[in-house]
Amino acid sequence: MRERIVGIDQRVPVLDGSLRRYVNLDNAASTPALRDVLDTVNRFMEWYASVHRGTGFKSRVATRAYEDARETVARFVGADSHQHVVIFGKNTTEAINKLSYRLPLASEDVVLVSQMEHHSNDLPWRARARVEHIGLDVLGRLDEAHLGRLLQTHAGRIKLVAITGGSNVTGAMPDLHRVAVKVHAAGAQILVDCAQLAPHRDLDIGALDDPAHLDYVTLSAHKMYAPFGTGALIGRRDTFERGEPEYRGGGTIEFVSLDDVTWADAPDRDEAGTPNVVGAVALAAAMRALSSIGMERIARHEAELTAYALKRLTAIRGLRIYGDADPLRASQRLGVIAFNLEPHPHALVAAVLATEFGIGVRNGCFCAHPYLIHLLGLTHDDVLQVRSSMAVGDRSAVPGLVRVSFGHYNTTDDIDRLAEALSNISRGEY
Ligand code: PLP
Repeated sequence: MRERIVGIDQRVPVLDGSLRRYVNLDNAASTPALRDVLDTVNRFMEWYASVHRGTGFKSRVATRAYEDARETVARFVGADSHQHVVIFGKNTTEAINKLSYRLPLASEDVVLVSQMEHHSNDLPWRARARVEHIGLDVLGRLDEAHLGRLLQTHAGRIKLVAITGGSNVTGAMPDLHRVAVKVHAAGAQILVDCAQLAPHRDLDIGALDDPAHLDYVTLSAHKMYAPFGTGALIGRRDTFERGEPEYRGGGTIEFVSLDDVTWADAPDRDEAGTPNVVGAVALAAAMRALSSIGMERIARHEAELTAYALKRLTAIRGLRIYGDADPLRASQRLGVIAFNLEPHPHALVAAVLATEFGIGVRNGCFCAHPYLIHLLGLTHDDVLQVRSSMAVGDRSAVPGLVRVSFGHYNTTDDIDRLAEALSNISRGEY
């Protein structure tokens, strides 16, 4: 699978002046491009032309490519064009914000959001409704019993349950379809943020008459081996066939007179302005490539890597994993592992991995502060202290972790490099 990645054997400079093969363990942030994506984009550029209303041959080819990309995205998540619509946009953040505007919500309506969400699947809801947070267990996994209690307590007022398909911090994966059954039984809808899940697992949005279906899913191309700047919101067509879009302008309308607007049908109503056709074509190419490798095969390989990494990392002195560290459960979570190497600050560990060992990771709070508060067991007073330090410009009090995250092209060699580097750091040999 490695040979399908652009730039896979690139070497990078490290502090001793040598060059080392770059080990990218930051796939949860953005993935490198697949060669199939690069080739498809290069071929498409020959046919680059205005879409939708252009009558020229190239315009028709470009429009066809854009609409074919929409169908590929629909197929990738198991959507059906009668029941669902695929709306292209910039990324997951934009997709969730769009949904937050397009769902008819009143400020007293309740949206349940888990405490493990990326801020992009929490803050949009706080702005539009009353948010109640679903709690987590000690390993940072969704507490379904708490979800059940919230569904009862707020019965009749819950419009949406918004949860991640896989955490960008611990890799925890809620049982989506089991949760969906409970959510629908309570008369609510479910949004699954699939930014992390989509490149790693087979997705099935499901038919609307199946109680286990998902009402909306979102994803980002740059986490799926395609370029930055494209995302998709896939969801129930009936939501997007009514109401007004939050962005208005070219492309969103059927007819405009001086005092009236007739909105276009879905999905055009929700794609204001000239779309990112190249981005959509690239995303579709990535999805085709992932499907041709096989999502089952990807999931199996990544579970093996994760189990191997958990075993190697837990053997390192001072290394503490946050979240589930049991290698036997590796297939039930994503290949995202967050840890600290005590007593070394997370920023130092990440910097040494990069500059001395040529290993790319990430550190900090991963846009999931409420989750870090839970994982690190911060008290209310701790949080107040962080906030008051930040108010005077002191960021040193902000806690954090180091995160490694695997893609299907990573190997056990990459993990060996990581484990050796961390062992060196733990012994102070850097
Ligand atoms: N949701 C999750 C779980 C993520 O990991 C991320 C990005 O890291 C996002 C949402 C936001 O994605 P984007 O920056 O592509 O909008």
